[in-house]
Amino acid sequence: MSTSAPPNATFSRESLEQVLKRRFFFAPAFEIYGGVSGLYDYGPPGCAFQANIVDTWRKHFILEEDMLEVDCTMLTPHEVLKTSGHVEKFADWMCKDLKTGEIFRADHLVEEVLESRLKGDKAARGIAVEAGEEDDDKKKRKKKVKEIKNIKLDDEVVAEYENILAQIDGFSGPQLGELIIKYEIHNPTTNGKLEPPVEFNLMFETAIGPSGNLKGYLRPETAQGQFLNFNKLLEFNNEKMPFASASIGKSFRNEIAPRAGLLRVREFLMAEIEHFVDPDDKSHAKFDQVKHIELSFLPKEVQESGSTELIKKSIGEAVATGLVDNETLGYFIARIYLFLIKIGVDVNRLRFRQHMSNEMAHYASDCWDAELQTSYGWIECVGCADRSAYDLTVHAARTNEKLVVRQPLAEPITIEQFEIEIAKKKFGPKFRKDAGAIEKWLLNRSQTELENFGKELSTAGKISVKIDGVEGETELDTDLIKIEKVKRTEHIREFTPNVIEPSFGIGRIIYSIFEHQFWSRPEDADRGVLSLPPLVAPTKVLLVPLSNSADLKPVVEKVSNFLRKQQIPFKVDDSSASIGKRYARNDELGTPFGITIDFESVKDESVTLRERDSTKQVRGTYEDIIAAIKNITYFGSSWNESTAKLTPFETQATDA
Ligand code: AMP
Repeated sequence: MSTSAPPNATFSRESLEQVLKRRFFFAPAFEIYGGVSGLYDYGPPGCAFQANIVDTWRKHFILEEDMLEVDCTMLTPHEVLKTSGHVEKFADWMCKDLKTGEIFRADHLVEEVLESRLKGDKAARGIAVEAGEEDDDKKKRKKKVKEIKNIKLDDEVVAEYENILAQIDGFSGPQLGELIIKYEIHNPTTNGKLEPPVEFNLMFETAIGPSGNLKGYLRPETAQGQFLNFNKLLEFNNEKMPFASASIGKSFRNEIAPRAGLLRVREFLMAEIEHFVDPDDKSHAKFDQVKHIELSFLPKEVQESGSTELIKKSIGEAVATGLVDNETLGYFIARIYLFLIKIGVDVNRLRFRQHMSNEMAHYASDCWDAELQTSYGWIECVGCADRSAYDLTVHAARTNEKLVVRQPLAEPITIEQFEIEIAKKKFGPKFRKDAGAIEKWLLNRSQTELENFGKELSTAGKISVKIDGVEGETELDTDLIKIEKVKRTEHIREFTPNVIEPSFGIGRIIYSIFEHQFWSRPEDADRGVLSLPPLVAPTKVLLVPLSNSADLKPVVEKVSNFLRKQQIPFKVDDSSASIGKRYARNDELGTPFGITIDFESVKDESVTLRERDSTKQVRGTYEDIIAAIKNITYFGSSWNESTAKLTPFETQATDA
């Protein structure tokens, strides 16, 4: 059923925030202690909505693709995140006000100040400026802002600002520092001078165990746990490739300046997929099923030229022309689109933005973010990256554990390579407890390393190496190891798979859907409607007895039992408020269907069904009505299709 806010419905963030708060979708955590920025609790409708989205995600991705779900620990030892690069690189740039000590995230500050100067310029030129809503922090700051005035800028400056804003995600810390100096960007509230940007690591550090010796972090993503279980998963999958793992769980990031409600928080639910694929064959068996899907793309070259104009084309064309690097990446981009539309994202406010060259992680070969447009601007809600073989390679090198796929070759091949021969019998007595580690290390050397060691052995008769976990230098002579170039016939191909990673931030998606689906009826501007798709709506049915009469109670009981048996989430509202009021209260909760029980129902078990968005009503037996609800909610049937055999009901104005 296509439920959605009418296309021209007016949106007010203030009204939405009031509803979300009043109906306890979510609220600041520890509120009676004053709250902590970036931490939120979900209330009953928020929990139900989130659970339904996660359930849909599981079915749409895990079930559809036969993915292997894992649930890994959040506490992660230092070594793992050091190897993955997070200890060194998982950081944002921040700058500090020299006097007040106030801290800003550098890219957000530059963005905010340039945007406000452009707004001031427009106002000075007499161009109408869109009201654009602001979060509470921004409002508070603006009260005291010295920076924002209606000043006309030179045309070249306007062009420069627009160019910078189009590529704001691509600047390094030092480049942001240069922009701050060049454009005289100060603390917007005090006009105070700022220190040059410095890196701030976003991981929450902790110690595991009472000794405090095992340093660890709360994981910043679920991905690493999936990589570390690669061998077990491959075995579980009967060594078949390609395959994907998936994980749903909390991640933690110590954001510099949490803001915009659920959009930038410090603890959030992530759903991540790691699709392991042959680096020489990134085709996808089901690509044909999605290739016709039209999407809005924002390629890197467009952003780098200072524009944000979207290009519309099918995903098939995007892959064929090389805009999207490969079929598997393209397949997931299309599947992400289908998922987002299914759960209530407005198709007109969804775009796929490609990472610019300087924005992309050094190991990634292509990366696209699904961005959703909200009153806070375009927000990255799903990242979809080709992470190449980076993660498996670094973890294998660090642990000396092979993380590879071994496949029988159709035709054997002859290869020439350096091989090492280890005199195992001599290793034990010579190296004792270190023998195993040294052997493992030697067996994991690359061809280039073996070639170099071989040369050294033949010239100096020995090599001297530093091995992690082994004290001092380890000396190995020709008595212990031999390295030779040998010709061999291979029957097995061994390779490290590449990884395509779609990564979903559930909270960001949830908030964006709230914005996309919130509206007010013209005749009742004070009451909002959340047009959540029935599939994910927290409660599917509101049961409303016409009056408090005892005569109606048995029918209410009967219908309730039936709904319970059918496992359809419902609520009974037998308060004394008018039926219209009771429905209006539930429009705010996104409840898609109402069932009215009246005195006719007592006689013939007929009830009225009301649809939230159109307020259309039909009448039928409660069993037929509930069958229609079930078809619409869980089997994607349309209202017209499902209610064709029911009787239109127009005489009684229950919405009055
Ligand atoms: P990333 O690993 O940075 O690409 O993030 C993956 C996804 O996690 C993003 O697409 C967001 O949806 C979500 N995400 C990242 N940081 C936050 C945050 N601070 N608050 C809420 N969601 C986040």
